[in-house]
Amino acid sequence: MDLSQSPSEQSFRAEVRAWIEKNLPEGWGTPAFKDPRTFEERVAFSKEWEAKLAKDGWVGIHWPKEYGGRGATYMEQIIFHEEMARARAPQLFINFVGTNLAGPTIMAHGSEEQKQRYLPPILSMEEVWCQGFSEPNAGSDLANVQTRAEDRGDHFVVNGQKIWTSFAHVADWCLLLCRTDTSVAKHKGLSYLLVDMKLPGIDPRPLKQITGDAEFNEVFFTDCVVPKEYLLGEMNMGWTYANTTLSHERGPAFLGHQIRFRNVLLDLFKAAQNTKRDGIPVSEHPVFRQKLAGAYAELEIMRYIGLRNITSILKHGRPGTEGSVAKLYWSHMVRRMQELALSVGGPAGALDGEDAMGRGQWQRGYLMSFAQTIAAGSSEIQKNIISERVLGMPRGETWAPREKR
Ligand SMILES: Cc1cc2nc3c(=O)[nH]c(=O)nc-3n(C[C@H](O)[C@H](O)[C@H](O)COP(=O)(O)OP(=O)(O)OC[C@H]3O[C@@H](n4cnc5c(N)ncnc54)[C@H](O)[C@@H]3O)c2cc1C
Repeated sequence: MDLSQSPSEQSFRAEVRAWIEKNLPEGWGTPAFKDPRTFEERVAFSKEWEAKLAKDGWVGIHWPKEYGGRGATYMEQIIFHEEMARARAPQLFINFVGTNLAGPTIMAHGSEEQKQRYLPPILSMEEVWCQGFSEPNAGSDLANVQTRAEDRGDHFVVNGQKIWTSFAHVADWCLLLCRTDTSVAKHKGLSYLLVDMKLPGIDPRPLKQITGDAEFNEVFFTDCVVPKEYLLGEMNMGWTYANTTLSHERGPAFLGHQIRFRNVLLDLFKAAQNTKRDGIPVSEHPVFRQKLAGAYAELEIMRYIGLRNITSILKHGRPGTEGSVAKLYWSHMVRRMQELALSVGGPAGALDGEDAMGRGQWQRGYLMSFAQTIAAGSSEIQKNIISERVLGMPRGETWAPREKR
């Protein structure tokens, strides 16, 4: 690919950089800055930071201008994520689902009335969204969703259970995938509702993770009356709309992530210089030197995978199956890197709290790294995609009988 940037891209980069420098939270990145630690603290911090971004038009920059976005090109989005990562600016946290999933799905399939109602408060960060897709028996096999929405004329009655619904307990709205027809092939009987989380009959119950936080929930729907106007698009077209949502799960943030991981690795190099093993700094220990150099090389590979993906998107206008290679690669790379970080710290690396190594960042990073190989499509599913669609191998056996489409 051609890596040179046009004058307008260069000036866009300068504009983003200047905004970040001026607007980063006071003291951000200095030892005096106390990072928000608990989930509640992170929600409050994130709402404030994201509202600031929103006020100056830095949320949903990829949205078309007619819906309040900047209509940013793919390259401009990459530049934005790179600059945010370079400055180690806080990442989009609380309304990722709103800006990246709900907004684009509503733009693609919603009525004009729905667009007018839902899009502005997403961009201004006034309304937070969650994604109610996964269920206890519908994760990788998402078409198996069992939550029922019974059509009662001017409303639906919803009954069922969702799981792993990130932020449901703090969300205002939910993208709800539910079954409206049981008599057809499973992916043909799904509908897509936009559901107000304050409706009676919705009970989000936070699930405590291994980190101690509770970011996601199981959500129970019991005789929940949902007005018909909350239906997105047409009845029983939910599978198509869900695929629109899923196609936006991995946006152009990949190279930005790579820079953020590089920052993590640079922090790890520093920690290795300041920690002793066998009487010498870990950074001079022959075994650890090899491992740290290996982690650096892996990060560079991630960058080249990212560049290859961008080339494909710029050429074909959409991400190809290379996206699965990238997801599989980086999610396992992160796990290896976080494991190395723990071993650099030795027993102390496993501690959390104010006086722990890196104030507990390594321990938390390690525990969270396991989520990466599951969320947005597990590693086994990525391998299935690579073997079937990239390598052209025969389809594997599934646990559930295949249906005729
Ligand atoms: C941090 C995090 C946040 C999430 N947030 C949300 C959210 O906000 N909203 C939401 O709807 N969901 C969310 N999810 C759920 C996520 O999409 C699912 O966990 C994921 O799709 C896997 O589904 P599952 O957990 O049901 O596992 P299962 O599908 O039950 O899989 C269990 C195991 O079997 C393997 N497996 C399954 N099928 C096959 C196959 N055909 N071939 C080979 N192996 C297979 C899987 O790889 C996995 O190892 C989140 C998950 C995580 C980790």
